[in-house]
Amino acid sequence: MKVLIIGGGGREHALAWKCASSARVTEVIVAPGNAGTLHEPKVRNVNVSAEDVPGLVALARAERVDLTIVGPEAPLVAGVVDEFIKAGLKCFGPERAPAQLEGSKAFTKEFLRRHGIPTASYATFTRETFEPAYVRRQRLPIVVKASGLAAGKGVVIAETADSAIATAQSMFAGQFGESGRVVVIEEFLPGEEASFIVMADGKHILPLATSQDHKRLQDGDRGPNTGGMGAYSPAPVVTETIHARIMEEVMKPAIRGLAADGMPYTGFLYAGVMIAPEGTPNVLEFNCRFGDPETQPILMRLRSDLTVLCEAALAGRLDTVRAEWDPRAALGVVMAAAGYPDDVRKGDVIEGLDRAATLPGKVFHAGTRAQAGKVLTHGGRVLCAVGLGSTVRAAQAEAYGLVDAISWPGVQCRRDVGYRAIAREPAGG
Ligand code: AMP
Repeated sequence: MKVLIIGGGGREHALAWKCASSARVTEVIVAPGNAGTLHEPKVRNVNVSAEDVPGLVALARAERVDLTIVGPEAPLVAGVVDEFIKAGLKCFGPERAPAQLEGSKAFTKEFLRRHGIPTASYATFTRETFEPAYVRRQRLPIVVKASGLAAGKGVVIAETADSAIATAQSMFAGQFGESGRVVVIEEFLPGEEASFIVMADGKHILPLATSQDHKRLQDGDRGPNTGGMGAYSPAPVVTETIHARIMEEVMKPAIRGLAADGMPYTGFLYAGVMIAPEGTPNVLEFNCRFGDPETQPILMRLRSDLTVLCEAALAGRLDTVRAEWDPRAALGVVMAAAGYPDDVRKGDVIEGLDRAATLPGKVFHAGTRAQAGKVLTHGGRVLCAVGLGSTVRAAQAEAYGLVDAISWPGVQCRRDVGYRAIAREPAGG
């Protein structure tokens, strides 16, 4: 069978690599892909943008693609799956209506409230309805969020009312374009975050291995929020009890609620959850796709054939399949370009990829571009180096072995990815 992966980041490199490893797959096409997918066996890049919906439909038709998997949120929110369905093509991802769970935080908060799913208390404002006095009445810190898509950057945790008000006003003034026209202001939740990712077929839910990521730029979870600086799987914070609570209190009511609201959800569904000290899984956000960088370590552990799982979901039979996991831990370290998460510098030559390829583990590309036999940086998050190990500590050592083999001017990465999980492991483990 032929598979099409839509997107060109680290998640898509991992999806393409995983699908290509299946004996039933003859070829994986990636639109548009990156320098990593370009060099992957059985994988071919095609220069169609992930947001060119008619171009993607035409590509899938012309290439007689049997299964398409959508990586990023933008095409999902734009309705790429609706168009594939109209064209009679199999495409794994949510349609436009349920993809609003990611496209609009205001929609999601209202959905959570309506279906009794735990989340922070909040209020929604536009420039016209904004009440600075509301902010002054709330406890600090307080969280200010642009409602629309902002590439993981539209969330500010304000320590003072003045800075919260200034943040909201700069969002209304267009800091994130249309995405900041509506702003959600919500209660700050203490606790530990976990990512919980499932596959859904409209009705049934197949939970994937647990994972946790690091959103902040710097060691110790300090510095600005980013799209994610590293992730690992499994996440010890998601104990069996927490797992059961997330399934019962978040995932099942969400999938049931979406179906009841007339927009059944098929695709990867990602809940960013803040686990309160007493164990309540409060939803911070939903993403309508696989996480990046969580995909990279999670797929390193997946032993089952992903194409089989996606086809089962598209047939509404997710209850008949199981996902088998490598018992080892996987940990991915993101290597980012100079300037990330703000204005990034592109075009730096990446050194050491050949040497890294001889080491254990796997380097997934994200913002990279091939030119004249060299690989150049071409985005904020450039690579994700993933290691496997019998413990998170061992997986971390393998991942940093790869990181240390690779360099370019101004490269940034955290040195402590996985520290929370490692702190929970027995010493010397
Ligand atoms: P979001 O895009 O809504 O998941 O927010 C990005 C990051 O901001 C989250 O991963 C959290 O680290 C942090 N965050 C968001 N909302 C809250 C909240 N209500 N309380 C504490 N931290 C939050």
